[in-house]
Amino acid sequence: MPTTVNAYAAPSAGADLIPTTLERRNVGPDDVLIDIKFAGICHSDIHTVRGEWGPQSYPLTPGHEIAGLVAEVGSNVSKYAVGDRVGVGCMVNSCGECKNCKAGEEQYCLKGNTGTYGAEDRDGSITQGGYSTQVVVTQDFVLGIPEGIELDVAAPLLCAGITTFSPLKHWGAGPGKKVAVIGLGGLGHMAVKQAAAMGAEVTVLSQSLKKQEDGLRLGAKHYYATSDENTFSDLAGSFDLIINTVSASIPISDYLGLLTLDGALVSVGAPPEPLPVNAFALIGGRRSFAGSLIGGIRETQEMLDFCAEHHLGSEVEVISADKINEAYERVMASDVRYRFVIDTATLN
Ligand SMILES: [Zn+2]
Ligand SMILES: [Zn+2]
Repeated sequence: MPTTVNAYAAPSAGADLIPTTLERRNVGPDDVLIDIKFAGICHSDIHTVRGEWGPQSYPLTPGHEIAGLVAEVGSNVSKYAVGDRVGVGCMVNSCGECKNCKAGEEQYCLKGNTGTYGAEDRDGSITQGGYSTQVVVTQDFVLGIPEGIELDVAAPLLCAGITTFSPLKHWGAGPGKKVAVIGLGGLGHMAVKQAAAMGAEVTVLSQSLKKQEDGLRLGAKHYYATSDENTFSDLAGSFDLIINTVSASIPISDYLGLLTLDGALVSVGAPPEPLPVNAFALIGGRRSFAGSLIGGIRETQEMLDFCAEHHLGSEVEVISADKINEAYERVMASDVRYRFVIDTATLN
């Protein structure tokens, strides 16, 4: 029998989210039923439910930063047992057969991964996300949350945490490396924590010095305001790696000038308009301008284990479900330090 669960959903593009119910499928042989305890609010939830990233099917329940406990498992499930602490991130399936899936990079599935909400599932239904009390997910896309991180601060790791961890690993952040993080928000604050824990020397590049104290407390060694024109000349040629977490348009060529020989500037945010890049800024130091999308399932587990080992969670503000619309406004105004997390007990 499908289960009816409490949820919050947007009834149409641009409408406020409202309390509702939705159906979760039967627990199949490979499925895990999860009692959701916390769901993070990600910027992409807001863009998606508002229809800003293309047309959606409504009503739509967003949420792809899910942390909870296993409530039931199917007959083939070997990875998890009832009561286990688990999470679900941005995807709930992929083809499993293409080159990228076989390499454990399911986020780059050549047939497209199945998003946790607003995507067409294998059975043709539209996936519904984590602002709800339960979810059913195939075991291969369920992550284990180790002891050592509380579930509320673990939830945002499932999107924000892996979005920053994957490029830090891929581009070799570690001892002896200088890493800069552009923007200290939901993504940026995790990049700072993780890069520092990896042993890199971390610098925050923020519009102002408003959050300097936070940045240094989270692990940055230096903090610069990009509104100060001296910043770009003082830091020219400094960094091995720059992680750009800002989804607004920024002068990329100016930032490329901050890279050392062979340095890379990696964007994880997505501004809606194309960014102009001056080729001389790349040629001059054999520099790269790259992008990165979340991480594969194996790497997401590695990230959770790393964060538990180093006691790294997200900085969160836990809210009740009736505050979701207000929280959306505050996210858009950058008025959150650093992630809202919904206590799903308030959905009952
Ligand atoms: Zn997200
Ligand atoms: Zn695939």
